Amino acid sequence: MKTAIAENQKIFIQDRPQPNLEDYDNKGAIVKVLGCGLCGSDIVKFLHDGTEKVLGHEVVGEIVEIKPSVFSKFKVGDKIVLGHHVPCMKCDYCENKNYSMCHQFKETNIFPGGFAEYIYVSPKHLKNTVFKVPKHLDDMEISFMEPLACCIRAVERAEVKKGTTSLVIGLGSIGLLMGQAVKAFKGDVIGCDLIEERVALANNLNFDASIKFEDNDTTSSLIKEMTCNLGADIIFMTSGSDKAIEFAIKSVRDGGTILIFSSVPNDMAGYTNNDIYYRELKILGSYSPSPMDLALSHKLLSKKKVIVKYLSTAYSLEELGEAIEDTISNKTLKAYIKIAKD
Ligand SMILES: [Zn+2]
Ligand SMILES: [Zn+2]
Repeated sequence: MKTAIAENQKIFIQDRPQPNLEDYDNKGAIVKVLGCGLCGSDIVKFLHDGTEKVLGHEVVGEIVEIKPSVFSKFKVGDKIVLGHHVPCMKCDYCENKNYSMCHQFKETNIFPGGFAEYIYVSPKHLKNTVFKVPKHLDDMEISFMEPLACCIRAVERAEVKKGTTSLVIGLGSIGLLMGQAVKAFKGDVIGCDLIEERVALANNLNFDASIKFEDNDTTSSLIKEMTCNLGADIIFMTSGSDKAIEFAIKSVRDGGTILIFSSVPNDMAGYTNNDIYYRELKILGSYSPSPMDLALSHKLLSKKKVIVKYLSTAYSLEELGEAIEDTISNKTLKAYIKIAKD
């Protein structure tokens, strides 16, 4: 089968053996990949981990083989969308809702990765993190289930509720999903980005306001003006740069929360001790979704409470390298790699 291999910052299309159910004792399913979204985390791995791997986890596919058929929820021919990690739900991490720290969560994955013509999906996945594609959504729309679920988890961890004002820094595809997730949890949301078109897009996607970033002082004063001179209750950092960290510290209210949703290079200046201490700030991280977040994401997309149409640009598997370049250079907001031919 055609497989996109990532190695040393390059993509090679190679012919690899298709996964075979007979290789797995407790079986599962073979899924023909229709398409797969390109995630920011794929790009981080592409740039910073040179070892050979198959990227891609935001998969939409069709079940072509399933064994044993005790997974009564699914049958051959079903169109599905999935999450790639499954927590055990009973270890200490899971009991404390740190599902993405669970050992099983880290060990479970689809094989070999979403940028291939076929993948193996385990029984654990079928039971917990695989969902049918609603008929009224197209493949590209439902491929947002996993990234939206990541945002839902972040919004839950930051305790967004009615009466809170959140500021989303960075209006890439994750920022645009994050703002809509805030709205789904009844919070108010302001978006901010350097790129004019993205600011306009946020305004069309139900953000209460969206502003273009000028510089730390000007823009943080504007945020203060918009929030009764307090600052935002919650800040979602979907963009990682030291400028963005300073901007977040300036724009958050005393006693407020900053939720980190991006990785930054290791040598970058971080959050300052005394801001956190004297201003009683909460700094939180949020990484990857639980099966419950995936289910809620699936529901919000199905009910069109979160609008994702037109956020993605389609590329073929052969164009994966180009899709990565275009995403890095901000030419593309979100890439969707269409793998099966119509
Ligand atoms: Zn993702
Ligand atoms: Zn666990």
